[in-house]
Amino acid sequence: IQDFTAKVRVQEGTKPIFHKPRPVPYALKEAVEKELDRLQKNNIITKVARSDWAAPIVVVPKKDKTVRMCGDYKVTVNRCILPEEYPLPNAEDLFATLAGGKVFSKLDLAFAYQQLKLDPESEQYLTINTHKGLFRFNRLAYGISTAPAIFQHTMDQILDGIDNVVCFMDDILLWGSRVVVPHKFQRRLLSDLHEGHPGITRMKALARSYLWWPGLDQDIQQHVGHCSPCEAVRNKPAAAALHPWSWAATPWERIHVDYAEIDKQHFLVVVDVHSKWMEVFPTQLTTAEKTINLLRHLFASFGLVKELVSDNGPPFTSNDFEMFLKNNGVRHIRSPPYHPASNGAAERAVQTFK
Ligand SMILES: [Zn+2]
Repeated sequence: IQDFTAKVRVQEGTKPIFHKPRPVPYALKEAVEKELDRLQKNNIITKVARSDWAAPIVVVPKKDKTVRMCGDYKVTVNRCILPEEYPLPNAEDLFATLAGGKVFSKLDLAFAYQQLKLDPESEQYLTINTHKGLFRFNRLAYGISTAPAIFQHTMDQILDGIDNVVCFMDDILLWGSRVVVPHKFQRRLLSDLHEGHPGITRMKALARSYLWWPGLDQDIQQHVGHCSPCEAVRNKPAAAALHPWSWAATPWERIHVDYAEIDKQHFLVVVDVHSKWMEVFPTQLTTAEKTINLLRHLFASFGLVKELVSDNGPPFTSNDFEMFLKNNGVRHIRSPPYHPASNGAAERAVQTFK
């Protein structure tokens, strides 16, 4: 992206925060070094000898043996960053802008933030500390709390005056708006919505808060049309039943976690109780250490939650796991023995995911 730079601003009088590098697991060292090389070659990071600011890194192994890496800015610049007051569009805005369109095309900006040069003044705040030394970012990076607003603002300026175009970041979709559900999951979610036979009106209302797909209303009507219990009460006033989806508090406050196994591949499934947003991490191991690593990455990207609900599986009952949550101020709710159903959100999500 030419002619635009991203500015990261901190509160006046802020003292720089410098963190030591975190130890990188031996098995990941080579991959981390390769990624550092790649970022250097692409001019995204530059090695520096010293820096007042330094954030440790979060490393996420990918399936192809490479890693994804970002600064853990939660512990440095995000603590004193000046917020960017720029509204992010939600799904409603997206649909409103594109309403009436017949032909749609999508332009994907790979590594979106890295398209945006950092203002030279701001580079220092994004310095990372690794086992190979200090590196300064030349581009906007994931993990900076104002990055979505900065990026959205820039794209809106670039696209200003061009009709029927909207910039929309996928990972923004989850907050308070609806998820567009792919076809293969629609039936599963219909039966989730139908749990407790809430009736057509209530199902439509629930759906409206969480998800959307073309023809959703008709699908709900058809689904309920085939249900005899619903048929029997069709013309009676609906009781205000407590649907499991109405527990929603606020987004990213309480998550449910569970492991699923498909064809010997394990998946850590995380569901946000409010938005039903699901994160799925493929993993070979289901140890406490692995679980902690995956959640650490998740928290680094999306922020900490207040409560985490799990069953009593070994990874979730270990001391390490308890300590990890405690150190991050996350309350651990274990579904009581003999009541595995109270971790239903994650289990249902596992079913949906399967
Ligand atoms: Zn029914």
